[in-house]
Amino acid sequence: MAPAISSTTVDLHYNRHQKAALNATNRLVQGTELADMPLEQVIKVTSTTPARIGIFNQAAQTWSHKFYWKSMRPNGGGAPSGRLKEKIDSDLGGLDKFKQTFAAAAAGQFGSGWAWLIVDGGALKIVSTSNAATPMAEGKTCLLAIDVFEHAYYVDYQNRRADYIAAWLDQLVNWDFAAEQLIKST
Ligand code: MN
Repeated sequence: MAPAISSTTVDLHYNRHQKAALNATNRLVQGTELADMPLEQVIKVTSTTPARIGIFNQAAQTWSHKFYWKSMRPNGGGAPSGRLKEKIDSDLGGLDKFKQTFAAAAAGQFGSGWAWLIVDGGALKIVSTSNAATPMAEGKTCLLAIDVFEHAYYVDYQNRRADYIAAWLDQLVNWDFAAEQLIKST
């Protein structure tokens, strides 16, 4: 995915940050009724219980990172087609407007978090979330996710989060994955 994201960033992000969340999730659910649940169910169950925020954080970060990698591909970018293109045109004002709104949501997320393209009530929406929060926990269908924790871009872009977001949209975003999620949601 270089030069948009360097191999150093992918290595640190996947093998250290994501792996730490996965290991913590496995450790925290061990011996509880959560241990045999699918990851998605662990996230939904713990998201509504403040005392379980520690488990929610690690489980949600594990899920969201898996989703983040699928939201990208080498030689990504370009334009969506078919039903997804139609929905972006009708719900979000077209591809250029989508990019502007998505980039603004990702850049404007204060501190750590994520920006998402989701289906909410049948319509595409762009939202951002703080820290480990994910629209999936609220039953929303996610189509794309970008990680805006500093670990996602600092090695390559330092404080220039907007440049990371622009490169992600132009060179990495995986429209085929987003289109598959849209089909699954209907
Ligand atoms: Mn991350």
